[in-house]
Amino acid sequence: MNIVLVGPPGAGKGTQAESIIETYKIPQIATGDMFREAVSQETELGKKAKEFMNAGKLVPDEVTIGIVRERLSKPDCENGFLLDGFPRTIVQAEALEDIMKDLNKDIEAVVNISVPDEIIVRRIVGRRLCKNCNLVYHVEFNPPKQDGVCDKCSKNLIQRADDQEDTAVNRLNVYATETNPVLDFYAKKGVLINIDGNRARSVVWEDIKKALDKYDRN
Ligand code: ADP
Ligand code: ADP
Ligand code: ZN
Repeated sequence: MNIVLVGPPGAGKGTQAESIIETYKIPQIATGDMFREAVSQETELGKKAKEFMNAGKLVPDEVTIGIVRERLSKPDCENGFLLDGFPRTIVQAEALEDIMKDLNKDIEAVVNISVPDEIIVRRIVGRRLCKNCNLVYHVEFNPPKQDGVCDKCSKNLIQRADDQEDTAVNRLNVYATETNPVLDFYAKKGVLINIDGNRARSVVWEDIKKALDKYDRN
């Protein structure tokens, strides 16, 4: 199954991705995680991405499209993949069509998680992340068993540099102008699935699972 997850920052994409990849055994391709990894390793890609990320802006399309094309061509994507946080612009969505054509594949479903802006800001400022396994926590809504420590690998949790209130507001504005048109793009293709993300994690997951089960070929 070839699936895309879209939704504003903090909507719960990474959180729901945890259930999706575990249930359907497909790799998660999260451009934000790939960029954060590159920034922390101080690679060329990381140097290109860092200033945009910290300002709450999008990394330029040509950079982002390049890393996604390369990643989707790897053998572990053969039986499906979950794109998380890509495409975020129309240019990226069109590039993804080309990549799919070259790989002889199709995007089967685009899951759009929506949450009101004021809830989102609370989710973003309380978000904590395990840098080791990319699991997502929230100090209030999804706390780890032990304060500041990952349940799975026991490493210390971090707060993302861009998870501040002012940057969060920038990112919401960028989403409204750059990414909203992507939703129309997929609605016209008939693959958009709208999910109300302003409910408990498990309830959101039930809805997503109901919608995605029919694409599971395993
Ligand atoms: P969130 O979890 O808040 O939705 P991500 O972890 O997906 O955020 O992305 C963090 C940052 O990485 C973005 O604000 C942006 O700077 C960069 N980024 C991630 N995905 C993309 C993309 N598809 N296009 C451009 N920039 C991206
Ligand atoms: P995204 O990947 O879309 O940016 P995340 O999955 O990282 O979003 O979630 C953002 C924050 O909100 C995290 O701290 C996460 O624990 C929390 N969160 C995710 N889903 C829910 C939910 N259904 N209810 C409350 N908090 C949630
Ligand atoms: Zn961990």
